[in-house]
Amino acid sequence: MNLLYKSTRNSEKTVTASEAILKGLADDGGLFVPESIPKLDVTLDELKGMSYQETAYAVMKQFFTDFTEEELKHCINSAYDSKFDTEVIAPLVKVGDTYHLELFHGATIAFKDMALSILPHLLITSAKKNNVKNEIVILTATSGDTGKAALAGFADVPGTRIIVFYPKGGVSRIQELQMVTQKGENTSVVAIHGNFDHAQSGVKAIFEDKKLAEELADAGYQFSSANSINIGRLVPQVVYYVYAYAKLLENEEIKAGEKINVTVPTGNFGNILAAYYAKQMGVPIAKLICASNENKVLFDFFKTGVYDKNREFILTSSPSMDILISSNLERLIYTIAGQDAGKNAELMRQLKEEGVYEITEEMRGQLGDFVGGFATEEETKETIKNTYEKTGYVMDTHTAVAAHVCAQYRKESGDEKKCLVASTASPYKFIHSVMTAIDDKYAKKDEFELIDELSALSATEIPNAIKEIRNAQIRHNRECDSDKMKEIVKEILNV
Ligand SMILES: *Cc1c(COP(=O)(O)O)cnc(C)c1O
Repeated sequence: MNLLYKSTRNSEKTVTASEAILKGLADDGGLFVPESIPKLDVTLDELKGMSYQETAYAVMKQFFTDFTEEELKHCINSAYDSKFDTEVIAPLVKVGDTYHLELFHGATIAFKDMALSILPHLLITSAKKNNVKNEIVILTATSGDTGKAALAGFADVPGTRIIVFYPKGGVSRIQELQMVTQKGENTSVVAIHGNFDHAQSGVKAIFEDKKLAEELADAGYQFSSANSINIGRLVPQVVYYVYAYAKLLENEEIKAGEKINVTVPTGNFGNILAAYYAKQMGVPIAKLICASNENKVLFDFFKTGVYDKNREFILTSSPSMDILISSNLERLIYTIAGQDAGKNAELMRQLKEEGVYEITEEMRGQLGDFVGGFATEEETKETIKNTYEKTGYVMDTHTAVAAHVCAQYRKESGDEKKCLVASTASPYKFIHSVMTAIDDKYAKKDEFELIDELSALSATEIPNAIKEIRNAQIRHNRECDSDKMKEIVKEILNV
């Protein structure tokens, strides 16, 4: 069966998976969604014994139906290889009474590697399939982790260029160093004066600029996106929820058919949406628990049905979740609007023009799978400290937000189902916040001084991604105002 994709803002036109991956964002500004979520065509019992790569194939072939088996397997095997520091790719670790799905064993030690190590291969394959001759220019706004993961994925990939925008002062020191030291002739990194939402809106505006697209085409370029609005990023994220459930079964932590809850530290709503898709594919997931930091726009949305970004933007110790416009929520809004593109487009217009929209009672009625929660900065710190003291396990700040919300939900609801926590970054990446949470005495130390201490304290090896930046040379130093992003892109591409 051939699965086609539609824009969340236009129900007329359909495209293939490879066309959707190539474009990133639809011409009307909408996001591509499959016409329906496919079911798994293997049983959970069959999935039990599968490797990560085999699971990836079982999931992705259901979504990317215009890829041949050979093409898809080539993409999968090129992505999930020794760039990861463990053969299982996404290990499941029992911490107290929850299961942490560690998604940070790739090249840049955050979960963005799970999708961004395969996206370049999906894109190149899609370009070939569609006879694209232009060079593909990846434009990416990052709150810190996507940027580096995308740079690492696309560096020196023939036929591609990549330009990453990050908010100056809005990312951790390690994140910034990881980006500005990136090698590769086709890579560019720009710090913007503004926050992540400014960067993301700027990139979206560039994508929607038809005149610019024409100028680029004349110069032999076309844009695509590595942000989680690209369906080629979302689908690879469905894989690890399927994989985790199968591993819980295999390890006899759960019985066949037993439902579990999943808690996801959320920013742009991509990761948790992938869990929702996994549920719709047939994985026995009960609640999808959406964990926010103090930028709790999603918590308020699930509680009230009103999405309101008109509020103070708070810089927290979990910067990859410092987001007020969660782009991927649009895919859920479209779904609960009964796949009504007009209705969704109207809500998105209100969001753009007024910064706020309210969904109908009927739409709210379909959000029963979701629960919202949030953790304050203090609660995040306490969770890191308490978990370390009780179990010896050290988690990063984003994961701690989820761990707190998971425990809080369990206490308040009395829901005792086993809970999976998406563990989205290595503690080494946010080392200063993590170590200070454990003991104030570390507050005065530089991030680099803390690396060996964390290694000793957590009995873990220092990841390669950290070793690399200790001595790396700075290669990127561009900065610009957030309303000058288009000019910078033209300058970089020489058009
Ligand atoms: C990107 C990111 C998140 C948020 O994920 P979304 O898919 O944007 O919701 C959470 N934690 C870390 C460490 C991240 O890098």
